[in-house]
Amino acid sequence: MKTIIGNSNKVLSVDLSTGIFDVIEIPDELYKYYLGSKGLGLKLLFDRMRPGIDPFDAENLIAFMPGAFMGTNAPCSGRWSAVTKSPLTGIILSTSCGGPFGMSLRTSGWDGLLVSGKAEEFSYLYIDSAGAIIKNAESLRGKSTFDAHDYLAEQGGVITIGPAGENLVRFANALSGHRFLGRGGIGAVMGSKNLKAIVAKGGEFKIEPADKQLFEQSRKLAIRQINSNKTTSVSYRNFGTRANVKPCSEANILPVNNFSDGSHPLAHNISGEHYKAQFSPKYQTCKPCNILCGQKGNFNGTTMTIPEYETVGLLGSNLGIFDPVAVAKLGNFCGEMGMDTISAGGTLGWAIEATQKGLIQSQLEFSNPESIFAMLKDIALGNGLGKDLAMGSRLASKKYGGESFAIQTKGMELPAYDPRGSFGQALSYAVANRGGCHLNGYLIAQEIFFKLLNPFKARGKAAYVAFLQNIKEIIDSLHTCTFTQFAYLLEPPLVKYTPKIVLAFLMQYLHPLAIQLIDYSLFNKMWRAITGIKISNIEMLQAGERIYVLERYMNTREGISAKDDTLPTKLLKEFRRTDSRKKCIPLELMVTKFYTLRGFDKQGVPTQKTLKRLKIEDSYIKNTNL
Ligand code: SF4
Repeated sequence: MKTIIGNSNKVLSVDLSTGIFDVIEIPDELYKYYLGSKGLGLKLLFDRMRPGIDPFDAENLIAFMPGAFMGTNAPCSGRWSAVTKSPLTGIILSTSCGGPFGMSLRTSGWDGLLVSGKAEEFSYLYIDSAGAIIKNAESLRGKSTFDAHDYLAEQGGVITIGPAGENLVRFANALSGHRFLGRGGIGAVMGSKNLKAIVAKGGEFKIEPADKQLFEQSRKLAIRQINSNKTTSVSYRNFGTRANVKPCSEANILPVNNFSDGSHPLAHNISGEHYKAQFSPKYQTCKPCNILCGQKGNFNGTTMTIPEYETVGLLGSNLGIFDPVAVAKLGNFCGEMGMDTISAGGTLGWAIEATQKGLIQSQLEFSNPESIFAMLKDIALGNGLGKDLAMGSRLASKKYGGESFAIQTKGMELPAYDPRGSFGQALSYAVANRGGCHLNGYLIAQEIFFKLLNPFKARGKAAYVAFLQNIKEIIDSLHTCTFTQFAYLLEPPLVKYTPKIVLAFLMQYLHPLAIQLIDYSLFNKMWRAITGIKISNIEMLQAGERIYVLERYMNTREGISAKDDTLPTKLLKEFRRTDSRKKCIPLELMVTKFYTLRGFDKQGVPTQKTLKRLKIEDSYIKNTNL
């Protein structure tokens, strides 16, 4: 077997319209600026994709991007990214997955795969180190994600869509192993290209770090930190992300009945603790993983994935369903059809409220899983009202009315944290590049789980959101699991051994100093050990900033501006029965501060000075022969 030291510096580009493939050589200089995975995928699209195209146009590109960590056995390095233009939001989408396709692509010798064009017939793409072949997939048409995956898996690592992707549901996802490229409708983009699946042969190269000694040293430290951090080694390892149900319900931020309440007496039934006690969980994780948040369970003799927190929040409490078996069935049905559970639950929440208000006619009801199951099927197959709901809550509410209670930002439905109880998260939602995303600056951790920041104050939130966004861009570009940040940022001695009361004071009142003191060097140490590329910690943080700002800049070319950095009226102007304090989210104030910190103008557009400082207009790719 041949060996790749660090990066292969090669991206395979395939034009589905012609079947022609080519190799894009990536110089080390570009990795210094964009790190790899998401960052590199974004840069590939920036250099090659015309702004303003329809996401379903053949011109739309999809970059599938494993990062430098993939294949090295670094902790939680089974994650990889895909970047495209989203049909749900109409702007740039980056989404991540932990399935085996990423590993197979990397061990076929590629740092990425760039797909363009549209196949003439219904197809799948086969990749190996020699290049790509387009194959007929007619026999897979209409097959569920799981069936198509099983059928193709003997050829290599698979990423596949289900019926929802084929039917262009705007929040269709794609499956690899048991994990999904979840958000923003990448499955529909694949469907629009007549692309049912991609298989990468894998196993042709082994990946070795450039500095084995430094790698082993930093890998051991990373594992120690993961194993000593409570969130990663106790909460998520035991209960999955469903561990969030209890603190979120207690903090009144668990969405109930389309974000009409923030807690519920039956919330325990869909908690991590309850699923663990009742359904004999076994691990079902990304590979490799040291945190182990993914689980499957035994539901009366049937094995199903135990839904993660966002699924129990959106398909459970947000729809008034607290039966853990019903929630698991709804989640698994979305998986089979290939649909994002967050957007499905958010859109159905809107549809039920719209039904109650007489804006649409449907059988949908809160707390009625049968009615919801039937509508999910109609959405996936494009039947009746389901065809309109397949557009997502923003477009459906534009058609029928009820935009104020469509719980979305920039067209993407919000995850399972009501921002009325977490002002930092409110800002994070409003300025996340891909729309309603909780991961790009996860302030829930500091405000709710660790109680280090007052969730009802605006002070310092812009700075924390910007900093954590930069860290998240690093994570998605190396690529590792987002949950490693709990361990790598909180376990270094300065944070770990500072008394909580002092830490909370520092973070609340002296945030510039607190941010300066956060040690994020482990990410850089591991990346340097693997790639042999030397950049300082500050340069790595600036790479994170560059990636965020580039994505923002690309979105402004698609028409995004200050008017879009907002939240639905229901969250900004209405209070809930369970709100003990009636305090509106000071969103405008926080957004204005955020723009100043980011170097954006009043319209939220990165200034020329900012772009120049981050060298965003520079192009480093030698071979742009797509
Ligand atoms: S912690 Fe969960 S999401 Fe992260 S790599 Fe492991 S299984 Fe995947």
